[in-house]
Amino acid sequence: MRAAAEEEELTAAESYVHAPFALLPAEYPASELERACALAPSFNRLVDAVAADLPWLEATLRETAASDVFTRRLLRLALRVASEGPTQSASLGVLRSDYMLHEPEPADGAAPAPPQLLQVELNTIASSFAALSCAVSDLHQHLATRWPALRAAMWERRGRPPKLTLSDALPPNDAVDAIADALAAAHRAHGGADAVVLFVVQPGERNAVDQHRLSQRLYERHGVRTAFRSLSHLDQSAKLEGPRRRLLLDGTQEVSVAYFRAGYVPDDYPSNKEWSARLLLERSLAIKCPSAAYQLAGAKKVQQQLALPGELERFVSPAEAEAMRRVFAGLWSLSGDKTPPDDAPPAEREAAEAMRAAAADPSGYVMKPQREGGGHNLFGATLAAALRELSRAQRSAYILMRRIEPKAAPAVLVRAGEVYRGDAVSELGVYSTYLRSATGRVLISRPAGHLVRTKMRGVDEGGVASGFAVLSSPLAS
Ligand code: ADP
Ligand code: MG
Ligand code: MG
Repeated sequence: MRAAAEEEELTAAESYVHAPFALLPAEYPASELERACALAPSFNRLVDAVAADLPWLEATLRETAASDVFTRRLLRLALRVASEGPTQSASLGVLRSDYMLHEPEPADGAAPAPPQLLQVELNTIASSFAALSCAVSDLHQHLATRWPALRAAMWERRGRPPKLTLSDALPPNDAVDAIADALAAAHRAHGGADAVVLFVVQPGERNAVDQHRLSQRLYERHGVRTAFRSLSHLDQSAKLEGPRRRLLLDGTQEVSVAYFRAGYVPDDYPSNKEWSARLLLERSLAIKCPSAAYQLAGAKKVQQQLALPGELERFVSPAEAEAMRRVFAGLWSLSGDKTPPDDAPPAEREAAEAMRAAAADPSGYVMKPQREGGGHNLFGATLAAALRELSRAQRSAYILMRRIEPKAAPAVLVRAGEVYRGDAVSELGVYSTYLRSATGRVLISRPAGHLVRTKMRGVDEGGVASGFAVLSSPLAS
């Protein structure tokens, strides 16, 4: 990763620090790892179906969009482009569904409940760290093979006899290759042999190594070239050509796929220039990863709406809906009245009850705005104060979620060469790739590797780039 801006005397290109990582992998029950991977095709289908139903998206996001200008602009953009008619020849999703194991301390004398895999969120844009997570999987494989003491530490922590093969316990991770393969398949579906895959990136990106390793794999495995541009640069250098609206860089270079590693937070759009570049890309023939509608399908408000009875079933089969619902934590809308009338719909009364409970004891809840990248959620006293003080319209920018309580385990974290020991909790991410042709044929839908992020116990937020967590890998038990 590029070093932080504090070291300003070095230019970004000269100054690198290693990505923060955990020395040992984090234990996850094999059955829950399998469950998370098995759900990946269902989440792919769900995102595709939700994105295709703009009236539902618009209705779901109406109140959120009224109070959150970022959601409003993105929704408007999606609706405007849809009204012009579809352009892209295929839809491409690179998703990451994030989970934690809910394993609360049992009440005095009670037997512990079995751990429950619960979804934190579903990322549909800039699902990062695929390349670095593969590097950390390789590192853990290497350490376990090479250093008997570390191998023993891994086994000892498991408290049971070692499995015979390491690869049983440290599952192979093909995230970067699987994502490169999906980008290449989309590139081929687009058809322009001399086209490039465009990586839309933030100016001064710190996570550049992760992106460049993916770009490198795309070339090594498929001979596909890439270009890296920020939205403000694209505003100057990109244009649409002809009735099919081919996307050209610098007047000549065609783009097959616009792969967004930026564009998911308001800061990525400091002026109208960036929004106008986003609109230009969205209107183009290039395959967008993600389209604005796919991005909106990953909104926390959408996650909350889908948890309501009957909603998932609009988009996926009843059997899939049931399997997905098992990993949903409690989710409530904050758009409703705090004291609804007795004849209000049950969901509204339940949400009001959850609001009252969270204001009284916020420790079991998280309040989440429509933001990505970590560092935006409200916990504890801040959450309670927000529930008390925000107007109903302001509250609508957020959702309320049951706090997942993972069990802490000893960990050794390495950040900028410094070692930190302590009890830590881990979040599992499962990538998935999805490619569907404009005629509806599903060309790819599969789980695509994994990521574990570990943070010290007591740290509320997550996110590696935001400085809360480090990269790790799963140890199946
Ligand atoms: P973002 O899109 O910003 O990554 P997340 O929903 O992943 O948003 O929230 C950021 C972090 O906050 C997560 O990585 C996790 O550590 C913590 N978090 C979010 N939701 C919950 C929850 N329901 N229970 C416990 N921690 C949570
Ligand atoms: Mg996210
Ligand atoms: Mg997250």
